[in-house]
Amino acid sequence: MSVFDHPEFDQHESVHYVCDAKSGLKAIIAIHSTSLGPAAGGCRRWQYANDQAAVTDALRLSRGMTYKNAVAGLPFGGGKAVILSDGKATISEELLRAYGRFVESLGGHYITAEDVGLSVEDMRHVQTETRYVSGLPRSGENAGGDPSPMTALGVFLGIKAAAETRLDSGSLSGLKVAVQGVGHVGLNLCRLLHEAGANLYVSDVNENNLQLARDEFPIIEIPPAELLSSDVDILAPCALGNVLSAETIPLIRAKIVAGAANNQLATDADGIRLAERQILYAPDYVINAGGIINVAREYHGNGSEEQVRAEVHMIPERLKSIFAEASASAKPTNFIADELARRIVSAGPSD
Ligand code: NAD
Repeated sequence: MSVFDHPEFDQHESVHYVCDAKSGLKAIIAIHSTSLGPAAGGCRRWQYANDQAAVTDALRLSRGMTYKNAVAGLPFGGGKAVILSDGKATISEELLRAYGRFVESLGGHYITAEDVGLSVEDMRHVQTETRYVSGLPRSGENAGGDPSPMTALGVFLGIKAAAETRLDSGSLSGLKVAVQGVGHVGLNLCRLLHEAGANLYVSDVNENNLQLARDEFPIIEIPPAELLSSDVDILAPCALGNVLSAETIPLIRAKIVAGAANNQLATDADGIRLAERQILYAPDYVINAGGIINVAREYHGNGSEEQVRAEVHMIPERLKSIFAEASASAKPTNFIADELARRIVSAGPSD
């Protein structure tokens, strides 16, 4: 299928298929929009069922980055890279450097960082070949490093905003929160939720990550297949996308879905399905923008951790205004967020 005929193609500016036989690199870089600035978005390393699934992921994730950066008020467009994993646990320096060379060849149209499957250390290797990279180890007082703690902070604050709106509760104490995936973001989120007195229902398919959670706080472990239907107040998807679908939404017992994962809705219509069930959905790219805010400050070298925190604290107000507009217009929250993002992109860069 031509990429132009792909159902997820949304006037993407360019899609690059990258191959480096020597290192084994196979990657796709999708640049959705540079209307507001260079396309910024992380690089995911994943073992896809087939190449078409990787293209789908790159197209959807890059559009999500355009919307995320726009709504967060960042001077960036949207892009995303996916590296097709061979299933091995480790990734070679040679492959990361080949990836870095390709990012460099794009001349700054795309700025990369880590996403699922890659780390701050991996970005150091990418950096040896390109200046268009962020999510590197922190230096001094400047913002930088692993963006996950800031993503988790934004999600935590967003969950509080959703609880105020949907549950009329100013506190998370005693509420039951199901967290799907305790990786980089999920574990940090659990820490904040635990400190706020929430009861944690957790699942992960990775035993090591689950053990880290067990070691740190009391958790009720739920088999992965049962997490979405657990009897909880809030569901926080923090693993992969497409978890909210025609099949899963009827099973959900939570009144709120608010988590870090990108592309939680399998289709836009799933936002309607959630709204029909009176489940308040926090649009993923609005609530999970903390990491890219951190990446942006690091990339521009113009901010401290405190400034990043202050910007992340603006996420709950943004969400509340989306919730209010959705309620007033009887539209699903994802439609309101998408309309907002498109308006910001159409208006062009602010001076
Ligand atoms: P991660 O790879 O560190 O963690 C994901 C966790 O989910 C892993 O522990 C994995 O084992 C687990 N998992 C996978 N499938 C699962 C399943 N079916 N059930 C339960 N657990 C499962 O990734 P991360 O950096 O924590 O990111 C999590 C999500 O948040 C991703 O969708 C990512 O794109 C999104 N996100 C991350 C950031 C960030 O700053 N890291 C920013 C924005 C969005």
